[in-house]
Amino acid sequence: MTITEALRNAAQRIERRDAEVLLGDLLHGNRAFLVARGQDGLDPAILERFESWVARRAGGEPVAYITGTREFYGREFRVDPAVLIPRPETEHLIEQALARLPRPNGPENRARPRVLDLGTGSGAIAITLALERPPCQVTACDVSRAALIVAATNAERLGARVEFIESDWYAALNGHTFDLIVSNPPYVAAHDSHLSQGDLRFEPPGALTDRSADGLASIRKIAEGARKHLAPGGWLLFEHGYDQASAARDILLKAGFEHLICEKDLAGIPRVSGGRLG
Ligand code: GLN
Repeated sequence: MTITEALRNAAQRIERRDAEVLLGDLLHGNRAFLVARGQDGLDPAILERFESWVARRAGGEPVAYITGTREFYGREFRVDPAVLIPRPETEHLIEQALARLPRPNGPENRARPRVLDLGTGSGAIAITLALERPPCQVTACDVSRAALIVAATNAERLGARVEFIESDWYAALNGHTFDLIVSNPPYVAAHDSHLSQGDLRFEPPGALTDRSADGLASIRKIAEGARKHLAPGGWLLFEHGYDQASAARDILLKAGFEHLICEKDLAGIPRVSGGRLG
């Protein structure tokens, strides 16, 4: 069977785009490669593997868990069902963080800002910041040991220096202060129907929702706890749900933050909020 035929068959069961990503991963080639080599025959072992992947995808499993990888901010991260699959929206959080951290070889480079990523999951945020802003000292924590193993593997593979700590938000961070705290916490409300739809059904529930009715319990904890863990002038930046911008603003104000920001994603949805202490 040729590449084109295998893709055509698969497209009857799953999205064509997903079929291309799955076969591309097996053949180590991108979409252009699949088109250019369309008439090539597929090795039977690869075809068998591809068909089993198509069946898994047809059963609803996210593409990223099937291939075990997802690209984030231009780098490939390993993912498994212990961690949330990094989303493009979270790249906006990266942009906001990078804007507040000194560039490598920049003039203000003598200081080594301390950065904390709360609930790191795959490590996508912490590792990206460590690699983009090498002067920073990045600490990442997660309550899930399984997630920390994935994150540490990603850091090692990508050559990032990040300190990983098992911690329920700030619980294990007594006495530590940071210049920037970032987080993509669980924020989906407990009874949101999205939790039982699509890819979310396969992701770790604790990474998606803290089971609070408004989905904001973790964001409240993170904002309130930041006071003890931010250096004067330090920033807190976090991602939140499409309808949580005004609640996030209230939480930040109540926790004593100033210079509040709220950034929209490419779809125009407010996605990232934050503020500065003092
Ligand atoms: N953005 C994710 C979603 O709704 C949720 C991730 C999260 O809770 N941090 O698909």
